[in-house]
Amino acid sequence: MKTFKQVLAEQKYLTLYILLVYILAGIAVIFREPLHGIFGEQNYVAIHLIIEIFVAFCSLAIANQIWLSSKFHQNNKILYSGALFLTIGVLGVVHAIAYKGMPFFIHESGPYAATWFYIAGRLLFPIGFLYILLTKEKQAASSTRLAAYASSLLISLSVVVMVYLPARPLPELVNEGGITALKSNLQMAAFILTVLLMVVLVKQIRTMPRLFLFLIAASFNLLCSDIMFISYIDVYDIYNFTGHIFQFTAFWLLYKSIYYFTVEQPFVAVIKAKESLELKERKIKQLAYYDAGTRLPNERYLKEYLEEHLPQGDSAKALLVFGVDRYEGVKSSLGTAYAEKMLETIAQRLQEVLPYSYVLSKLPEDRFAVFIPRYEQLQMLQEVTDKLQQMMHRSLVLEHFSISSVLHIGVSLYPKDAANAEDLLQFAQFAAYEATKKEERVSFYTGSMQEERAARLVLEHDLKKAIEQGELFIEYQPQLDLQQGAISSAEALVRWRHPKRGLIAPLDFIPLAEESGLIVPIGKWVLETACTETVRWQKKHRKPMRVAVNLSIGQLYEKDFSRFVKQTLEKTGLAPAHLQLEITESMTMNTKLIVPALQELKALGVTIAVDDFGTGYSSISYLKDFPIDYLKIDRSFIRNILDNPDDEALVKMILSMAKHLKLKVVAEGIETPEQLDYLFHNDCEKIQGYFISRPLPYEALEADYQAIQQFADEQLNRLKMTK
Ligand code: C2E
Ligand code: MG
Ligand code: MG
Repeated sequence: MKTFKQVLAEQKYLTLYILLVYILAGIAVIFREPLHGIFGEQNYVAIHLIIEIFVAFCSLAIANQIWLSSKFHQNNKILYSGALFLTIGVLGVVHAIAYKGMPFFIHESGPYAATWFYIAGRLLFPIGFLYILLTKEKQAASSTRLAAYASSLLISLSVVVMVYLPARPLPELVNEGGITALKSNLQMAAFILTVLLMVVLVKQIRTMPRLFLFLIAASFNLLCSDIMFISYIDVYDIYNFTGHIFQFTAFWLLYKSIYYFTVEQPFVAVIKAKESLELKERKIKQLAYYDAGTRLPNERYLKEYLEEHLPQGDSAKALLVFGVDRYEGVKSSLGTAYAEKMLETIAQRLQEVLPYSYVLSKLPEDRFAVFIPRYEQLQMLQEVTDKLQQMMHRSLVLEHFSISSVLHIGVSLYPKDAANAEDLLQFAQFAAYEATKKEERVSFYTGSMQEERAARLVLEHDLKKAIEQGELFIEYQPQLDLQQGAISSAEALVRWRHPKRGLIAPLDFIPLAEESGLIVPIGKWVLETACTETVRWQKKHRKPMRVAVNLSIGQLYEKDFSRFVKQTLEKTGLAPAHLQLEITESMTMNTKLIVPALQELKALGVTIAVDDFGTGYSSISYLKDFPIDYLKIDRSFIRNILDNPDDEALVKMILSMAKHLKLKVVAEGIETPEQLDYLFHNDCEKIQGYFISRPLPYEALEADYQAIQQFADEQLNRLKMTK
């Protein structure tokens, strides 16, 4: 709300106008004598009538204004003001009509009636306002509106009747000698009441500075008019004229303030409300159609845009959808803020490299879309995808981290692949998913993708039930310790016997389980089952046996994973030293999260192996930071160990590096005696592969164990002889 000072500063013209009135009053005081009767006695009635009409007009206009607006307002104080002004207005009119010199109208004109009407109106003003200011503000019922105005008319009517009663019960206010003592006293009473009103008004200066200003100014003008009316000698005295001018100014000010409260203010409030509504609508639209982080148009916008623009023209159009590799990794290891920053940086680059006519938008998670409204040949789309990949060659700088990433881009074509926006977008997303499996990371939509996608969903649905239905089981692949010559450990490998599709290899369902989060319950089941069966095997053979269980990253991200491992060991009775957990090399990328998780696991007493070592793309420098015990050389290196010098060099390097770091090595995928020879002679600690044994179901492992051990003994004896 505005302060009194601000309101005052706004009302420049008001001050000017009041100043003019006072100058006039000043002139009247100074030149009273020469100005006496200046307008001519004949003209005085007309001049008086004009001023009085203005005064009465202001009062009645206020009453009317409030009458009309109180239909919506219904504030009791405003309503009472309206009724008050109605009475004052009516009294003003009858005063003007009854004025001395006016033509005969119902009753003979003269100062007796005219002065009484004036003084009644004059007294009503402070009394009425004092009452209004001191009553409590509340909502007025619509019946009050009528009642207030009716009583106002009734009061005016009673005053008129009183004055015109033939018996003349009221004493004279003006006689031949000028104004009587009673008139002076009544005028004085009005004066004092107005001063009182001004005192009460001061309280409103803070809460209603505008009303205060106008009422105070009006009251002050009335006081001035009182002084003039008390001290004029006859009606031709210039004081009488000035008093009327003061009176008119007072009512004009009141009219202005009432106009403000009943018309201007509500109108301004409506406009303001409308403006703020529009602003809100704009904001809502912004929220609904734009991505908050990147400020790019969002999926809803894109869909609506496509719906509108796809059918336009007959040019071939294309939609590219792409995701950001390593987004999840950044999010889980560095946090959401970094991941957001990563997307914002990419969004910025996209805006720089893409032509203005392409429509770029941000889809949920790490995905973006680019709509190309026209292309001639596929070659051109290829160039766009190249450009996007090139854009990612520069590392993304996120505060003090520099991260390199690539995009996986899917492309769908209109009208070739899809005939509507929904399909076009969906197919581009399918293609983007397929692109993650391709080396060039770009994939154009093909019809089979949709079927594959559907098949994947069905499989995911089946996998959910697989655990409960007991369709999962474990095969154990024995590992041979080359130094002790004993089968002292085995790797647990999960299998799924699908009721319709038969045996499904882990590579066909583990990635699906990882994507859908099902890996967590599956992993738990595998760990529990592997521990239980290993304990059973140990009891049966009265021999130690270590079991190696594969972990997925989703399991390590689970909050209480180490507690779960601990509970499982306790529940199944497996010694912690007999459990090995395998992580893959790619999991070691998120050092920040993985190292503490592994340390917790190590603290339980289990051992940790890095699986598929050599295939990952992270630097080997992490090895010294990780609490690991074993490296498992990936079988792709073992396969060609004897004919590919590069692979041989790599295996040798791993073996010697492991020695330096005091890590043990397991070689995977040994299929031939020659491969075994090689590893035996190069001091590899353990081997695992079809040559010793394929993975076996628990019962088979129990049954065949002796035979496998015997075969291993023979092989080792042979090797020892050649050493
Ligand atoms: P991995 O952990 O590297 O397991 C070794 C894979 O190599 C197994 O394939 C095994 O059957 C196969 N293999 C072993 N010796 C030979 C050999 O001499 N020649 C050939 N060609 N292959 C050999 P499998 O069982 O198909 O498992 C594939 C992958 O699935 C595993 O690779 C592992 O990463 C994952 N996996 C299996 N079980 C689980 C599990 O319970 N949890 C998780 N998270 N992943 C699992
Ligand atoms: Mg493994
Ligand atoms: Mg492996």
